[in-house]
Amino acid sequence: MKAAVYTGKQDLEIKTITEPKLIDGGAIIRVSGCGLCGSDIVKLKQGSAAQNDVPGHEVVGCIYETGENKDFMPGDRVVLGHHVPCYECIFCKNKNYSMCRQFKATNIIPGGFCEYIYVSDKHLANTVLKVPENMPDEHASFTEPAACCLRAVQRASIKPGDVVFIAGLGSIGLIMGQVLKYFKAEVIGCDLLDGRIQLAKDLGFDAAYKYTNDQEIAGLIKTNFQQEGPDKVFLTSGNVKTLSTAISSVRDGGSVLVFASIPSNEAGFANNDIYYRELTILGSYSPSPEDLKNSLKFIEKNVIKVDNLFTIYDISDINQAISDTNSNRIIKAFIKLS
Ligand SMILES: [Zn+2]
Ligand SMILES: [Zn+2]
Repeated sequence: MKAAVYTGKQDLEIKTITEPKLIDGGAIIRVSGCGLCGSDIVKLKQGSAAQNDVPGHEVVGCIYETGENKDFMPGDRVVLGHHVPCYECIFCKNKNYSMCRQFKATNIIPGGFCEYIYVSDKHLANTVLKVPENMPDEHASFTEPAACCLRAVQRASIKPGDVVFIAGLGSIGLIMGQVLKYFKAEVIGCDLLDGRIQLAKDLGFDAAYKYTNDQEIAGLIKTNFQQEGPDKVFLTSGNVKTLSTAISSVRDGGSVLVFASIPSNEAGFANNDIYYRELTILGSYSPSPEDLKNSLKFIEKNVIKVDNLFTIYDISDINQAISDTNSNRIIKAFIKLS
């Protein structure tokens, strides 16, 4: 079957690889398409993926073959999460599902950017979800990234009326904002690109500013929202400069939620801001099965609108999709397999 694989270089190679087979039950899914995630690109840039790994995890497809499982039938259209928590360990008991060792060890085989994948019975029982009939594949593929946003908003304990500033309006920032509006926060976005600022306004953000410098942005928020700065800042850009924007704009006693990969040697550590200003720094990484279920419902009910967030590419053009994502020419790529 056709697959896009890591080769240790900066781009992926389209290769013919062996199709996966059922292992102790589970199911084979024929992939219709898979969203290109920022994390796939981070691994490519850092060279941290193993040779011949197939990236991609935001899969939508159809059940092709099942083992013992009776909840799914061949032909069922599904989306899925690639990791499954155990619900028993110390991490799961504290709702840190994405830190669970089973969560980290479970995965789809070989990865989303190929024609067929294997999922285990654990996946079928927890993270494989049937797609509502009239939902397009491209919309359904946002289930996992939007679930990441649901989790982040929960982690940040948002209260109605909280003023939240989102630094970075890529697909994650634009979805975060919609979820925050649903939880009745006042939402301000910021980005360098005019198109994304307009999109944020169209999606119901209370304000969206073009980034100029940290002081000016902090000043705009103070003038237009509240004297002391936002209660919470969501960092959704991997650009190291947005860290200073986040720390300098958040009000004293406020929280910064990090949903971005920035290497420690670049990011540094804002110790004295955390100490003297009593800031809370939170991370949010990957969603639980419950977040996935809620996310699919949010997309179905149009609470999260994704119509204008994706561009479709054929698998053979995946390197073009990666370079268009890196150059910010598109917001998010949906890679079509069949
Ligand atoms: Zn993802
Ligand atoms: Zn666990």
